[in-house]
Amino acid sequence: MPLDPSRTVAELEELRALTGNDDGAQRVAWTDTWEQARAWLRDKVQPTGAVEEIDAAGNQWFTLQGASDRALLIGGHMDSVPNGGWLDGCLNVVAGIEVLRRIAEEGTPPLTVRLVSWADEEGARFGRSLFGSSAAAGSMRDQDELRRLTDRDGIALPDALREHGVDLDGALEARSQLENAAAYLELHIEQGPVLEALDLPLGVVLGTFGVERSRITWHGQAAHAGSTPMDARRDALAGAAKLALAIRGIAGEVGDGAVCTSGGVVCRPGIVTSVVETAEQLLDQRHLDAAKLARLLELAKEASDRFAAEENITVDWERIWNIEPILFDGELIELADESIREVAGASHRLPSGPLHDAAEVSRAGVPTVMLFVQSLRGLSHTKLEDTKREHLELSVLALDHLASKTLAASA
Ligand SMILES: [Zn+2]
Repeated sequence: MPLDPSRTVAELEELRALTGNDDGAQRVAWTDTWEQARAWLRDKVQPTGAVEEIDAAGNQWFTLQGASDRALLIGGHMDSVPNGGWLDGCLNVVAGIEVLRRIAEEGTPPLTVRLVSWADEEGARFGRSLFGSSAAAGSMRDQDELRRLTDRDGIALPDALREHGVDLDGALEARSQLENAAAYLELHIEQGPVLEALDLPLGVVLGTFGVERSRITWHGQAAHAGSTPMDARRDALAGAAKLALAIRGIAGEVGDGAVCTSGGVVCRPGIVTSVVETAEQLLDQRHLDAAKLARLLELAKEASDRFAAEENITVDWERIWNIEPILFDGELIELADESIREVAGASHRLPSGPLHDAAEVSRAGVPTVMLFVQSLRGLSHTKLEDTKREHLELSVLALDHLASKTLAASA
C-alpha cells in the first residue's frame, strides 16, 4: 500500500463529520465524543497490525514492533477545544496512520514505530493543558492542584478521569512509555500567519518560546482631579502607559522574533475624579533564546525605573510564571528541512509561540522536531480554522519523508 495523502484528508473529513457539529469540533478530552474519536482511531489503525495500549495517563499508543525495541514516535492529540477546528491536533494522528500503513506494508521496520494520541493536550475542560504528555515526560508536578480542579458542572478532575479508566495517582507511571524513544515527530497546523505571509506550505519548528510573565505595580498618590495642578501629580497610570508603549521598542531592539504584550492594566481608585493611585500591569515576554528573553525582562525593568523617576512614583515587579525556551534537536531539524524541500521546494524555520506536546517530550530528553503546515488566515481554536487541501497532502508526504529519514539515521 503506497502512501496516499488524499486518504488522510478524506479521513480527517470523516472524523469531522463524526465528532463535530455546525459550531466546530467537539472532541473535548474526557467526554463521550472524545472516546468516540479514540474508538474511530482504533478501527483505522487495526489493519496495520500495530498493537494498542492505553497508558496510565490515558495516552493511546499503537506499536508496530520493529527489529529493535528502540522506537520512533509520531504523536498528536485527538482532543479539541469546544467549537474547535477540524485539524488542530488530529492532523498528525491521522497523518501518522498513513505513515504507519506505508511502513507496515514494507515489512518489519529497523526500529519499532509508535503512534501516540496524547490525552488532554488542550486542557479545555479543567484548564490544565498537556496532561498526558507531561505525565509521560515525568514533568507533571501539580497532582495536588489537579486533585482540586473541577469542570463547569462541579465534577472533579479525578472523578472524570476515573470514568475513562485513569487513576490520577498512578498517571506518572506513563513515564515508562518514553524509555526506548529514539526520536519524536509531530506535525501540526501553524495556528499563526507566518507561513501564509511567506506563501510557503510548510516550515520546520526550531522550538517553543520561553516565557516571562510579570505583574508590575505602580504606586502614585490619589488626588482630586479638579484641585491638583498638572505638575503636582503622582500618576501611577502614567508609568504603566509609558511602559506599555516602550515594550515595542524593547522587542524591536532585542529582535529575532521577540514579542512583548502588556495584556491588562487595573487602576485604583479607578474613578473619573481621581488621579490613579495604583496601576497593576500585566506583562508577557517571549523569546526562543534564553539570553535574549532575559534581556527583554532586564530592559523592561530598566525602563520602568526611568519612568518611575520621571513621574515621581514607585514601581514593584513580581514574576507570575516563567518557562525556559525548549529547543528541538539540531539533527532532526536538518532532516525536517530536507524533507520539506523535497516535497515543497522551499522550507522555512520558525519558532512556535504556543506550547505543544512536543515540548514536553523534548524536555524529557527525547530528540524531537515539529513540522508546521500553513494555517489559512492564521486562525485556530475556531470552526474557521482551515488549511488548503493540497497543503495538507504535502504535509503528510513531508512527515513520511521525515519518518523514513529518521528511521535510517537512527537505525
Ligand atoms: Zn494542538
